[in-house]
Amino acid sequence: MRILYVEDEKFLAEAVIHVLGKNKIKVDHAEDGEEGLRLALKPNYDCIVLDIMLPKMSGIEILKAVRARGIKTPVIMLSALGEVEDKVKGLENGADDYLAKPFKTAELIARINAVCRRPALVTSEKLECNGLTLDVTNRTLNGLALTDKEAEILMMLMKNPELAVTKQQILAHVWGAEAEFEENYVEVYISYLRKKLEKVRAKVAIKTIRGLGYKLCLKN
Ligand code: CA
Repeated sequence: MRILYVEDEKFLAEAVIHVLGKNKIKVDHAEDGEEGLRLALKPNYDCIVLDIMLPKMSGIEILKAVRARGIKTPVIMLSALGEVEDKVKGLENGADDYLAKPFKTAELIARINAVCRRPALVTSEKLECNGLTLDVTNRTLNGLALTDKEAEILMMLMKNPELAVTKQQILAHVWGAEAEFEENYVEVYISYLRKKLEKVRAKVAIKTIRGLGYKLCLKN
């Protein structure tokens, strides 16, 4: 699981990120609102944790901008004030949960797990696209086994058919920000995926967009 954590209090952020890491939650951290929004618009995250009081842009403004673009990633708001007003404002603008500071990191982890599980209860754990079925739970493609990384990459492409997904977005989501310079990882996995798509005679193809990334194209 990978989350975005927007928090300007350095020591708090470091402590929280440390504990999340121990619980196998990968974290990209932004220290101000502008950087937070820039990252929040990438399709890389299972959950976004937003402090409300931030330099440059507030957590509420980020939340509004994210929801205005139709991004449905679960959002948990944090507020130092613990005021009811913040909580209401957050929830009214499409936040999924709210946590008042100070909080125990274990509580935050429980909330993250809860909001990430929620959509799985209402939506199918299968992705469909032009006769192709990716079983996310069992990691299979029309019955053919996929590795975890193959499934994660294909999931990103199938959620955005006919739209470009950049190599950086794939790297950040599947390998994490530390793998920034290993674009050939992505190329290798895309070639594996193309072979598997051929094997199941899929009516979709992964097209390379030079200098940018990939997109899933539908065939007739
Ligand atoms: Ca703050």
